[in-house]
Amino acid sequence: MALTTHKFDAVIVGGGGAGLRASLQLAQAGVKVAVLSKVFPTRSHTVAAQGGIAAALGNVAEDKWLWHMYDTIKGSDFLGDQDAIEFMCKNAAKAIIELEHFGMPFDRLDNGKIFQRPFGGMTQNFGEMPISRTCAVADRTGHAMLHTLYQRNIQANTNFFVEWFALDLIRDAEGDVLGVIALEIETGQMHIFQAKTTLIATGGAGRIFQASTNAFINTGDGLGMAARAGLPLQDMEFWQFHPTGVLHAGVLITEGVRGEGGYLVNSEGERFMERYAPHAKDLASRDVIARASATEIKEGRGVGKNKDAVYLKLDHLGEELINKRLPGIREIAKTFANVDPIHNPIPVVPTAHYMMGGIPTNLDGQVVLEGEKPVNGLYAVGECACVSVHGANRLGSNSLLDLVVFGKAAGDKMVLEIAQNKVYKPLPANAVEATLVRVNRLENATGENVAEVGDAMRKTMQTHCGVFRFPDLLATGVGEIDAVAERIQYITIKDKSQVFNTARVEALELDNLIEVAVATMHAANARAESRGAHAREDFGERDDVNWLKHSLFVKQNNTLTYKPVRLKPLTVESFEPKRRVY
Ligand SMILES: Cc1cc2nc3c(=O)[nH]c(=O)nc-3n(C[C@H](O)[C@H](O)[C@H](O)COP(=O)(O)OP(=O)(O)OC[C@H]3O[C@@H](n4cnc5c(N)ncnc54)[C@H](O)[C@@H]3O)c2cc1C
Repeated sequence: MALTTHKFDAVIVGGGGAGLRASLQLAQAGVKVAVLSKVFPTRSHTVAAQGGIAAALGNVAEDKWLWHMYDTIKGSDFLGDQDAIEFMCKNAAKAIIELEHFGMPFDRLDNGKIFQRPFGGMTQNFGEMPISRTCAVADRTGHAMLHTLYQRNIQANTNFFVEWFALDLIRDAEGDVLGVIALEIETGQMHIFQAKTTLIATGGAGRIFQASTNAFINTGDGLGMAARAGLPLQDMEFWQFHPTGVLHAGVLITEGVRGEGGYLVNSEGERFMERYAPHAKDLASRDVIARASATEIKEGRGVGKNKDAVYLKLDHLGEELINKRLPGIREIAKTFANVDPIHNPIPVVPTAHYMMGGIPTNLDGQVVLEGEKPVNGLYAVGECACVSVHGANRLGSNSLLDLVVFGKAAGDKMVLEIAQNKVYKPLPANAVEATLVRVNRLENATGENVAEVGDAMRKTMQTHCGVFRFPDLLATGVGEIDAVAERIQYITIKDKSQVFNTARVEALELDNLIEVAVATMHAANARAESRGAHAREDFGERDDVNWLKHSLFVKQNNTLTYKPVRLKPLTVESFEPKRRVY
């Protein structure tokens, strides 16, 4: 089949914060750049980010990027790469000022400086006491950031392909990436986007779980594309469960609520975090709080009809503060929990939220293979990437920062690579073959229903790979998820009469979700220690002797290999792994 081919210096898959920060860098450099997005860019999940973006501006109290760096390393349970973390924390203040100059309407302090609030794990002077480091636009920070970046891209003449669904990478025999194959959702036509550089910025994959704070579009498409192209996925066992998802709805209540003074209580009215993290209490890092809540519920001190939640109390903050700093939260609580938090606490549960793992990259956003060898022409940034600044557990408000710092770095590096490549490398003759087979199989009349198999996947992940991980459940989980993957080979879009391309897209998203789910289950089963968000019942402690290393999962034969953590920062002394207490 002859497909229409479009040629761009740079093709970016994803119009969230990461993709748009990179595309802006490219467009401003005069490079011909296309952004493909399966939804309108400002509907990307970045729009849902609530609490804020971290940077050691020191607007509320003295602060240093080195303290931010220390907190991030400790938060990562020492799995984060210290050079990448130094790079991010050092460049944070510059990134915020840049956003401000782009027009992002940050909240202000009385003295006119950018407002900052406390967030979990963010401290002054290497853990001494909580610090206000998170810049915010009320509880709608991501919304403000994404719209700002979108408007700047319009001004810079970025070419948008809206409601286009990227299917696969094009990789030649030498392993170089030469673009992507994409489906125009409206017409169902497949096209080739040939590019000198390709950036994956497709965001998270929280929809592998039943209960998730993520949008329905967070289906790990970029990871699926990478896996099918034979590339490794790094640290997939590490998933952050956010302590405060609304019971039954999954919708997020930002950590900013606790930053403003809200706290969790159990059925006895006890502020239980005082027991689990005497020092930081409700501002300990997320993995610690999620485990505490899960333990309270397990031990019978849950709230509600089924005792399956805990309460987030904020009525003591007062109506004025709630309306000023947390208006979106009040709205969410009313809509999804049927409570007005000015008067009553919100029932919340730990809910799948963020993927620490992803496509391995270096500090320039280049996708790397074992031995840190870059793949020519391929980049990844944002939640789909693993650089790795979040290690085994991300600190809240560090993800938005990750997007803009590494989005810019990748954009800069792509400009250089494009300048060196005057001509487009020819596409391999069989560039679209495997993709056509995969897409066309959905027409098979006898296959299983997409929704049914998707449910089986989500149930398996939720049951076998949650906040606490048990050896028997993980072991059976591997077999079960592999079986679901097999079933997905034979899914179909049954009721053709009701089908528009959205049904086809859902099926293709399931192809990507399962790559993420399989990698997660295998990597979690293999890691015989507890570190950050990966909490095993049978190996309760962190094991630096055997497990201070990143996992790399490769789809072919489901193989796992490991590579060392980069403990050496760029310019400062290493932070040696030590016991992590809050
Ligand atoms: C509810 C919620 C609140 C959060 N709050 C905060 C916070 O306060 N602070 C913080 O630091 N972090 C927060 N996070 C995390 C942070 O928002 C995300 O990690 C981050 O926004 C992800 O950005 P991204 O650019 O990588 O991806 P996204 O913003 O998810 O964008 C992905 C893009 O990829 C496109 N795409 C995906 N697949 C395809 C495909 N196949 N073809 C074409 N396009 C595709 C989508 O259309 C979209 O444009 C929050 C997350 C959630 C879910």
